[in-house]
Amino acid sequence: MNLFDLTGRVAIVTGGNGGIGLGMAEGIASLGASIVIAGRNAGKAATALEALRAHGVDAAFVTADVTKKAECVALIQQTEAKFGRVDILVNNAGTSIRKMPQDFTEEEWHHVMDTNLTSAFLCAQAAYHAMVRSGGGKMINIGSMMSLFGAPYATPYASSKGGIVQMTRALATAWAKDNIQVNAVLPGWIDTDLTRRARQQVQGLHDSVEKRTPHGRWGVPHDMAGIAAFLASPASDFVTGTAIPVDGGFSIGM
Ligand code: NDP
Repeated sequence: MNLFDLTGRVAIVTGGNGGIGLGMAEGIASLGASIVIAGRNAGKAATALEALRAHGVDAAFVTADVTKKAECVALIQQTEAKFGRVDILVNNAGTSIRKMPQDFTEEEWHHVMDTNLTSAFLCAQAAYHAMVRSGGGKMINIGSMMSLFGAPYATPYASSKGGIVQMTRALATAWAKDNIQVNAVLPGWIDTDLTRRARQQVQGLHDSVEKRTPHGRWGVPHDMAGIAAFLASPASDFVTGTAIPVDGGFSIGM
């Protein structure tokens, strides 16, 4: 038995058209799974699809706003229609608004919670029956260092990412009987569009992350490929409900 063979499997990665999502999608594609990447921006997807097909697998983009239940349901339906099954779901779509708590509007709070947490629940719920039909599955939810720590400018973001960990545990207990493993990954600071914006807004962020990270550098999307491959593959069949930091040691030092 090859613990790391995903030939014939089908994975969906929300927000897989760039950044961490694409890094994870490439890790899963490298083991032979077909990949559906989902996002709102089809324009961004062309380069991502090219990178995925370079692994010799089928890849497709589905336009979906994952804050909307109907679009999550349609994403699963379109994936089953195109590839015949759903085995792996990576709930990676996310966003951030940086403000002090007293300055957030109600709309901004809901935007961050809906994009980061509710979307993961809606996609997991939509994928459940498809995974049962496939005989089981793997769900990977993307948390953050803010699943563990707080920060003054990140109240909704930290709330959503803390929620990801607890939602992961709850889903893992519910669906273990269906042979569905649900785990969370907590990335450290990774160089993507999201954190490029943060570095423009927060002076000194780049250097302070380098200084605190025992590996002495920012992560890159490719650093997320291995954990995605592991959690998507039979190698992790008895691993469920965990929240695994992939952070160059950021969360274990001072
Ligand atoms: P990016 O901004 O590069 O990627 C975010 C992705 O989410 C985009 O591809 C975007 O696609 C998609 N997305 C956003 N909103 C929606 C939506 N409503 N529906 C569908 N897709 C959506 O950021 P990262 O790669 O950095 O972030 C990916 C995940 O990793 C997020 O959950 C983030 O919180 C998390 N994370 C990032 C860290 C980092 O250091 N970069 C650290 C810890 C966690 P489109 O625009 O096409 O909709």
